[in-house]
Amino acid sequence: AAKEAGRDQVVLFDQQLREKRLEAARTVERLRGAIERDELLVHYQPLVRLADERITGVEALIRWQPPGERMVPPDRFIGLAEDSGLIVPIGAWVLREACRVVAGWHREHGTVVSVNVSPRQLREPDFGVTVLDALRESGLPAAALILEITEGVLVDAGTVTEQAIGHLSMLRAHGVRVAVDDFGTGYSSLAYLRDLPIDNLKIDKAFMPAPGPPDQAARTLVKAIIDLASGLSLSTIAEGVETAEQVALLRELGCDRAQGYYYSRPVPAPDAAVLILQSAGAGSPQLGSR
Ligand code: C2E
Ligand code: MG
Ligand code: MG
Ligand code: MG
Repeated sequence: AAKEAGRDQVVLFDQQLREKRLEAARTVERLRGAIERDELLVHYQPLVRLADERITGVEALIRWQPPGERMVPPDRFIGLAEDSGLIVPIGAWVLREACRVVAGWHREHGTVVSVNVSPRQLREPDFGVTVLDALRESGLPAAALILEITEGVLVDAGTVTEQAIGHLSMLRAHGVRVAVDDFGTGYSSLAYLRDLPIDNLKIDKAFMPAPGPPDQAARTLVKAIIDLASGLSLSTIAEGVETAEQVALLRELGCDRAQGYYYSRPVPAPDAAVLILQSAGAGSPQLGSR
């Protein structure tokens, strides 16, 4: 009987796995046509300079809006897009769209834009050309573009991935900057920080101290990351900043910029334009002073 029950469980597990795979395949099929059907859009989240709480840039964050359905967050489809290779055309679309939209803000206010790049994109031989094309088409200067990559892109199981380094070095020679996203959550060694083509560290939101009494351990970790970065001449951006206490701490520790719900959620382009305009206006109330 025990053997039979075990077999039933295996069958059930098999079924669940098959259903999951089928569901994933269906999602990939729907995603395949999403660009042509105009279902993808980009939201923008302000990056705020802590010294004066002005918006200096935005991060482009993809959204998927299938008609008549709820907006699909990236965590639900970026993984599938990577596995299926769809991230290559989707990523190219995000780059073009973000550069086009921010080119205007850059001309008016000097706004820069950060775009997330997945490991799969950096394995494409013509990734560099894709980026340079997006810049040329939009008129956005290379110096106004930051590519966000994760540690895993640069170092895979301890070995540096030459293809990715080649693309990023070439683009940096054109003036594009590179940020390490979600810093501190990967498993690679710190040695790469010395040798690899990077400009900024984004401190993952996991490091932000929780609300409540001062958290000495959290503070020590954030301070260590900021000191490490500044010693290597990398600028720092804190992610997931939600409270005034976190802002005060980051300021005190010398963090350069912050991004999070405390300042603004990711918003559609027209709303981001308003925030940038308000932030640029002399004497106008700044984002932080609500
Ligand atoms: P990420 O690049 O680390 O982006 C930051 C994420 O944190 C965003 O989630 C943002 O909405 C969220 N966030 C910002 N401030 C706060 C805060 O104060 N509190 C909390 N709890 N969260 C905050 P989102 O937009 O859902 O994106 C999730 C991830 O999906 C991104 O993480 C990035 O890895 C990926 N992603 C988004 N857009 C793209 C894209 O165009 N291409 C690729 N390859 N990946 C993308
Ligand atoms: Mg990012
Ligand atoms: Mg991040
Ligand atoms: Mg993150």
